[in-house]
Amino acid sequence: MIQIDGHSLEFREGETLLERAERAGIEIPALCRVEWAHPVQSCRLCVVEISGADTLLPACATCANEGMTVYTASDSVVRARREILSLLAGSFRHEAPLGNQRGESYLQELFDRYEILLPHPPRPVRSYPEFPTPDIRYDPQKCIVCHRCIAACREVKNIAAIDIRAVEGKNRVVPDRAELCASCGECLQVCPTLALTDAIGPGGPDAWKGRRVPTTCGYCGCGCQMDIHVEKESVLGVSARDHVGVNQGSLCAKGRYGYEFIQSPQRLTSPLIRRDDGSFREAGWEEALSLATERLGALRDRHGPDSLAALASAKCTNEENYLFQKLMRGVFGTNNVDHCARLCHSSTVAGLASAFGSGAMTNPIRDVLSSRVILVTGSNTTENHPIFANYIVRAVQHHGAKLIVVDPRRIGLTRLAHIWLRPRLGTDLAWLNGLMHIILKQGWQDEAFIAERTEGFDELASAVRGYTPSSVASTTGIPGEDLHRTAELLGTERPASFFYAMGITQHANGTDKVKALADLAMLTGNVGVEGGGVNPLRGQNNVQGGCDMGALPNVLPGYQPVGDNEVRQRFSRAWQCGELPKETGLAVTQMMPRAREGSLKGMYIMGENPVLSDPDQGHIESALDNLQFLLVQDIFFSETARRADIVLPAASFAEKDGTFTNSERLVQRVRSAISPPGSARTDLDVLADMAGRFGADWGECTPSGIMEEIAALTPSYAGINHERLEGGGIPWPCPDREHPGTPRLHQDRFARGKGLFFPVHDRKPLEPESEEYPLLLTTGRVGPHYHTGTMTRQGVGLTRLYPEALAEIHPTDADRLGIRDGKRVRLTTRRGSVEAKAQVTERSAPGEVFLPFHFHESPANRLTAATLDPVALIPEFKVSAVRVERAE
Ligand code: SF4
Ligand code: SF4
Ligand code: SF4
Repeated sequence: MIQIDGHSLEFREGETLLERAERAGIEIPALCRVEWAHPVQSCRLCVVEISGADTLLPACATCANEGMTVYTASDSVVRARREILSLLAGSFRHEAPLGNQRGESYLQELFDRYEILLPHPPRPVRSYPEFPTPDIRYDPQKCIVCHRCIAACREVKNIAAIDIRAVEGKNRVVPDRAELCASCGECLQVCPTLALTDAIGPGGPDAWKGRRVPTTCGYCGCGCQMDIHVEKESVLGVSARDHVGVNQGSLCAKGRYGYEFIQSPQRLTSPLIRRDDGSFREAGWEEALSLATERLGALRDRHGPDSLAALASAKCTNEENYLFQKLMRGVFGTNNVDHCARLCHSSTVAGLASAFGSGAMTNPIRDVLSSRVILVTGSNTTENHPIFANYIVRAVQHHGAKLIVVDPRRIGLTRLAHIWLRPRLGTDLAWLNGLMHIILKQGWQDEAFIAERTEGFDELASAVRGYTPSSVASTTGIPGEDLHRTAELLGTERPASFFYAMGITQHANGTDKVKALADLAMLTGNVGVEGGGVNPLRGQNNVQGGCDMGALPNVLPGYQPVGDNEVRQRFSRAWQCGELPKETGLAVTQMMPRAREGSLKGMYIMGENPVLSDPDQGHIESALDNLQFLLVQDIFFSETARRADIVLPAASFAEKDGTFTNSERLVQRVRSAISPPGSARTDLDVLADMAGRFGADWGECTPSGIMEEIAALTPSYAGINHERLEGGGIPWPCPDREHPGTPRLHQDRFARGKGLFFPVHDRKPLEPESEEYPLLLTTGRVGPHYHTGTMTRQGVGLTRLYPEALAEIHPTDADRLGIRDGKRVRLTTRRGSVEAKAQVTERSAPGEVFLPFHFHESPANRLTAATLDPVALIPEFKVSAVRVERAE
């Protein structure tokens, strides 16, 4: 027990006085503190008086001790704070009010409270000193040298691109390892004085002044909460709010500076209809929708409902995806509806649903702060889920967690890793089985968990018997002792959490790999516990929601099977439509071959760009060209839209209301900040209009009304409505209106009852190296870009960070092939050739080449194969045999 200002308070082990006071609602001013960083102790404003101590002590760096008596506002404390603030006021030039990016004026508030006047008016600034990123402007006149930006860059982001040094006799923020700067804006976000401001975008340094519209980021599955700053109909900039959402004030470069696409002159502003000569003309909505309805209706009537197929969108809201599959099933009468989840995590949905009964992330990301061990595999988390990566960094740096990274590439997290295993591409089942072999051999398995909560253990134990460290070493290249150290960590320290992404799922045996990860987690008793869990990191902002809403060919919303009569009847009654189709429809990877052979006649694609995102581009192009009718609804004239008969202009995430569901199953609000450009309409509005033209009566379609309909038909969303979400996101399952949601799954029982072990066996990649194709190609994302680049490549800052496709190749391979860094290379697989600039780097393992898939000039998916996982129908994006040669 301690006393703070007369309050008797319990305290936690290692808790500082500042933290304890904050929990009790007692304010101690602090300027240099960054929540996720170690105490900086530069401002000394948080000094407090402690009975018996000789001097005042900083509350941020003094831990609570039994029997302490603390005074946070005694005369001596107030005197000291006034002195510190007077010195601060004299050391910089500023105009009142002093504020930060969020328009808060904490420093000014302190000056007012302690009656400090600013002695120096600002001088006109002639030029601003260099900063590691041109996206941010640094004004030394406003800098109080509080070190917050330094701590944020170093400890929250694990980057250290800036430092503080004396320049002309004054301490200043200076670039340090500027080349590492990710333009994330974390430094600017924490700056208390606007010494750091935006330098780009319509608002520039005044971006913070606009009206703020709170919403959810439209890029990745982290689901960060952000404010869009708006003036009239213009987006000035973006910021985050402290203590709000999963991101707690942080954003990445895409979230903060990737908004330029919203107001790009390239946005589609009116419907387009293809002329006979192949060119497009602008049209009104009436004409475009009448024609689209007529063409789709004619194909359905002539060839049957299954001659049509549709792709929903992981970029659209839950409400829109719900309506999209309702249109396909209830109006057109087909289950041929799918979306890009097929290409990223369909193997997760299949694998985890078989093992646990639910195919989603089991734990909230904040649980990782309680993990003793964290295993990350097949996920370049720092670049692709930057905010989730912040949590992993914090867990390691502040909570002592041990990090194991298993990845063929040298990714950002390998710098922090206690153990980095570097398996050969595609050999994941060997090392996973090898770990389980060692754990069982050493008796490190969790016997009680296995006995009480699982089934199928004996089959697993016998299946992994042959995966000895030496056999695993010869398959994967992982030294036996490293595998042993990893198994020991996982077997002896708990809880352990497992994170993975497309490096695991995008294989023709992706479902087996997911099952093996689930096996490992169950074997070590790490499911259903805080700090444990199997956590697939979902790629797009609403790919989880797209799946939840039934934009899949085999399930209605809430994963209710289309083959279940009772389920279908419930939906057809609610939708007041005829009988719903009961046969599983086509996955996107099945639609394209059918279109190519001619049995699929028409497609409706909402917000997807399969020409760049799907495997074997030549095959996709000929499939789309063979359709009798292609309708595309998008915000840009994408590579897919160019092949359409009719293109409908849609609204972006900043122009619509609704919800997204993030990777943690957290359903969150999306809010309209501005109007769509020209005559563009929300997808929801277009879908409702289209349904009406086919005679369906959907009543008044509003985002909140549709969420009520979703809740009525989807048990896991039953307790969710827009009104409740005003107070923050709710993780499903949320079975009723009083239920707070379920952050952690499978706590007392698995969704399927008992967890099921699946023995799975290793096999070679389907396309191993050969004489003609001697290297292995893997594809993926890079930090500044997103998916097919339609949005991020509109951003000046993001394009500057990564302007063109780089083919990463190891120096030994580059030497052997005469390839020089920065020179053009040609990559050739059995599907085709692509040129890109070579980047000679040890990030790639010897024998392996990495190419990002964002660039239409170097379309990586011209090279990948459409070989499918037999269960999830996900393609083997991650391994293709390739030849690389100089292009000059
Ligand atoms: S933008 Fe991000 S990486 Fe660059 S200096 Fe600021 S915090 Fe560091
Ligand atoms: S730039 Fe801002 S955050 Fe960084 S030291 Fe100066 S005042 Fe503090
Ligand atoms: S981490 Fe993802 S959700 Fe968060 S700001 Fe970046 S792109 Fe947006």
